[in-house]
Amino acid sequence: MARYTGPVCRLCRREGRKLYLKGVRCMSPKCGVDKRPYAPGQFGQHGRRRRTSDFALQLRQKQALRVSYGLLEGQLSMYVVQAERMPGVAGENLLRLLETRLDNVVYRAGMATSRREARQLVRHRHVTVNDHPVNIPSFRVRANDVVKVRERDKNLVSVVHAIEVGAKIPPRWLTVDFENRVATVSDLPRREDIDVQADEQVVMEFYSR
Ligand code: SF4
Repeated sequence: MARYTGPVCRLCRREGRKLYLKGVRCMSPKCGVDKRPYAPGQFGQHGRRRRTSDFALQLRQKQALRVSYGLLEGQLSMYVVQAERMPGVAGENLLRLLETRLDNVVYRAGMATSRREARQLVRHRHVTVNDHPVNIPSFRVRANDVVKVRERDKNLVSVVHAIEVGAKIPPRWLTVDFENRVATVSDLPRREDIDVQADEQVVMEFYSR
């Protein structure tokens, strides 16, 4: 599956804010945005002032959302099409589709310090959904699904570390048993439950051009 493999902090620096893509490092003084608070590239530090057209603002919001969830352009546009076909507010549908990705659920449940780490756990078959191993990060969980780190992998260094350093306050829609590494999707996320670094309405405007 295609994915971005370049430098990650560069993505935050392009957006000019923290997108929390690297877990614990994002909270440390090593954070790229804190160390070099200007855009990446040759002209980042002394280049021209950034454009502030409507298009530029929409593009930056879209990029922030895409990068936060670790998606490629084609993947996000497919979610947008799906969100528009669903009943309700398209922007909220989009966020709900992104939040219910399996890699995001593992991250929100505190079993990984970042979505990238969560994606790796899923890809390496360390995670089950309703007791079936699932290695597809985009797998969409539904209400009452039980997401679990496999018994044999419960003490993986990355999982133990994530639980130790995490805030241990899962979102309202997840019930987490940290001891057994189990997260139950008790409800689907509502807009107010979703803490995201982008404005979904502006993203939808970008796609409706
Ligand atoms: Fe972004 Fe985290 Fe890198 Fe800071 S450390 S620039 S928040 S990915």
